[in-house]
Amino acid sequence: MQHFICTGGCDGESSTPGVCQAEDCKKEGEALTPCNCEDGLHGEVVEKKDEDED
Ligand SMILES: [Zn+2]
Ligand SMILES: [Zn+2]
Repeated sequence: MQHFICTGGCDGESSTPGVCQAEDCKKEGEALTPCNCEDGLHGEVVEKKDEDED
């Protein structure tokens, strides 16, 4: 079943389209990314974590 996740680091997940609402997330206010994984790992969508901690 399709779901929508945030890749900004807050681990946000929703069953409906929307935007991230985590105040301290890098992608707050940005659209969630659709994902169709069935194992809960969001492997198609989650990118390798960059060491980009500006
Ligand atoms: Zn987020
Ligand atoms: Zn997923």
